[in-house]
Amino acid sequence: MLHDGGREITHFLTDAHGIIHQASRGRTLRVAPYRMEVTLADFYGGIEAGGTEFVCAVAADRGSKLADKTILKTTSPEETLNKVITFFQGYTLNSLGIACFGPVDLANGRITTTPKTEWIDTEIVRPLHEALGVPIRFDTDVNGAALGESRHGAGQGNDPLVYMTIGTGIGAGILVNGTPIHGLIHPEAGHMPVRRHPDDPYQGGCPYHGDCLEGLASGPAIERRWGRSPRDLSPDHEAWPLQAYYLAQAMCTLVCVVSPRRIILGGGVMNQLQLFPLIRAKTRELLGGYINSPAILTSAIEQFIVPPELGDNAGIVGALELAFEVWDGDRGVGIGE
Ligand code: ZN
Repeated sequence: MLHDGGREITHFLTDAHGIIHQASRGRTLRVAPYRMEVTLADFYGGIEAGGTEFVCAVAADRGSKLADKTILKTTSPEETLNKVITFFQGYTLNSLGIACFGPVDLANGRITTTPKTEWIDTEIVRPLHEALGVPIRFDTDVNGAALGESRHGAGQGNDPLVYMTIGTGIGAGILVNGTPIHGLIHPEAGHMPVRRHPDDPYQGGCPYHGDCLEGLASGPAIERRWGRSPRDLSPDHEAWPLQAYYLAQAMCTLVCVVSPRRIILGGGVMNQLQLFPLIRAKTRELLGGYINSPAILTSAIEQFIVPPELGDNAGIVGALELAFEVWDGDRGVGIGE
């Protein structure tokens, strides 16, 4: 068993060249055929904090490559955060970025109101900062995903950028000049009002608004309306044109308010790729020729409303971007700087 300064070496990493790195608290021993060299490797940490799972990862340097990743089931706040702390204590961290489900209080690093009642008014940043002692940047899960896609995925070179997720809930991260919009609290685009389809008997499921966008078009709303999970509805089911009718209204609002250069639609519901052409066509129809841009009026709309490129990794890659930023002292919400 290798030891480093008396500490047992517990982490084994393989780099792109197949060289095994054995790391203990960030000190990496690189084992080469004829020599052993010791380099100091400080890691950046990222957390994609979700209502069903916490994804934790570390990266040795900038980029979308993860050095290690673990997925923890979300249980009680105390148990979950303790497991998160244990994972990161295996590394010498420079900084930590957190992309968190919410709604959140960005200034104080905590979750406020959430349907996951155990997590209402739960501090996230303070216990992690106390345990790990590194600067932390905290943002919403969708701002994290927007950052990930902006720097390494489908959003590159497009500013302003909107990333909207349609899954258990609906939310959007909006970047302007590469920076997430926060403002009064942070955007809650999933709760924008939409016009209900006259033939839609479903009243909507949002506990606050009933038939807001999330109330009508989230995964659970689709399931309640049709009595089946979205996954079990065939690609030509009448559910999808109705879904496009609601999401296209959201696209119109985002286009009119934010004037984004690209909108990325992710989340479980958008795995139904037949939605994309339906949403594009309906968005163009609803805008009625008023937004005079080729991105709307021509086939370029296929590059305007697009799926994510990072898939399930968008959130964790974005969380690491938050860690890089707080280490560099960039602007934004940060605690412990
Ligand atoms: Zn709502």
